[in-house]
Amino acid sequence: MSAEGERSTLDGNAAGGLLREVFAFDATVAPTTCVGCGRTRPMAELMLYAIELGAILRCPSCDQPVVRIGRTSRGLWLDLRGATTVVAADPATP
Ligand SMILES: [Zn+2]
Repeated sequence: MSAEGERSTLDGNAAGGLLREVFAFDATVAPTTCVGCGRTRPMAELMLYAIELGAILRCPSCDQPVVRIGRTSRGLWLDLRGATTVVAADPATP
């Protein structure tokens, strides 16, 4: 690990292993904190609003759009601007 303040000159490929860990989890059980009200709940407890190209998951407490998923001809788009944090379970933890 580098000293605080040092900057890495590597691109995102260097974090490939970490990114695979982060994005290979069951998101439905991931504790997700709403940016609107600060409540944390599993992503499965958000309210689904299906749209033609994907889904919008809204906070049941404050109606904030927390997760937006869209499918286009260019791929899947994930917008997590409505979430302060999404916690993926560590696969190394029993
Ligand atoms: Zn909320």
